[in-house]
Amino acid sequence: MHRWLLAFFTLCSLALAQNTHTVRPGETLYRIAKQYGTTVEALQQLNRIRDPRQLRVGQVLRLNGQPERTLLPSLPAPFTSIELPLRLAQGQAFRVRVNAGDLPVQVRFLGITHPVREGSLLLAVPRLHPPGAYRIDFQANGVVHTASLRVVAVERGRQSLVLPPDRRRLLAADLLIAERNQVLRVCAAGPQEQLWRAAWRRPVERERITAIFGVLRSFNGGPFRSYHEGLDYGLPTGTPVYAPAPGVVGLAESLAVRGNAVVLQHGLGVCSGYWHLSRITVRPGQRVNAGDLIGHVGSTGLSTGPHLHYEIRVHGVPTDPMPWYFRTP
Ligand SMILES: [Zn+2]
Repeated sequence: MHRWLLAFFTLCSLALAQNTHTVRPGETLYRIAKQYGTTVEALQQLNRIRDPRQLRVGQVLRLNGQPERTLLPSLPAPFTSIELPLRLAQGQAFRVRVNAGDLPVQVRFLGITHPVREGSLLLAVPRLHPPGAYRIDFQANGVVHTASLRVVAVERGRQSLVLPPDRRRLLAADLLIAERNQVLRVCAAGPQEQLWRAAWRRPVERERITAIFGVLRSFNGGPFRSYHEGLDYGLPTGTPVYAPAPGVVGLAESLAVRGNAVVLQHGLGVCSGYWHLSRITVRPGQRVNAGDLIGHVGSTGLSTGPHLHYEIRVHGVPTDPMPWYFRTP
């Protein structure tokens, strides 16, 4: 066998090994979900499991949660093809592919019109948008083709957090809004073209997830109005943090709520954030490759102990980073 072919098969089998989990004796869906930083409900949906108690030893579970795309039939001219997922979860990122010859195409979704670049566009459904049918419009040369996406609910649990009195001032609404806007401005800038070519790596070497994406949150006994916008890795101060994919450093500075923060811009409207770092090792404008050191875990800003908060946003909308480790949208 040619060496490159062997390398190809090795890569494929590694990817497959990460994409699935074979159920071992004594394992529960809850334990497996916890191990991979996902939820029982997400695994149930992905593997069409009606009753989580009916798990068989040796059963192979799919772990990667990227939605399957479907080609739409009978399109009006000038559209030649439109490919999109018909079913998605709240908080999930997805890709649409659309072609209308050489004509420029725009997609309207959730009240925002996005230009399509090279036939491809990434979008995300916000975590707190209600389940149901969502309209998506494809526009080219004055022709509008409307399709529908079904968004399904994902239960991700609740978490009540109590902040020490000296950190409570960080919850002031104007401060939260100003800092969020700063991050969103950075995410909206940066390169247009997609900089990554492979599934994303983990930003830390140890898989110790302490909070998954999408958990509803209450602070100091208040209402569950917000949710966790990323993944938390509970790791000791000083643990190295690496870029998970190629990008440009859009922000590298100390923020009140997010602490020492880094934002990477990855193109196609995607950015990733790293909060509460003890140390930052990159500068704004710097190009990074997957695996480059960008900082160290810490507990700066609105944090109750050393951890890395890691998030991915698509056009500013926070999305679950977990599926990106297996296959990007
Ligand atoms: Zn977090």
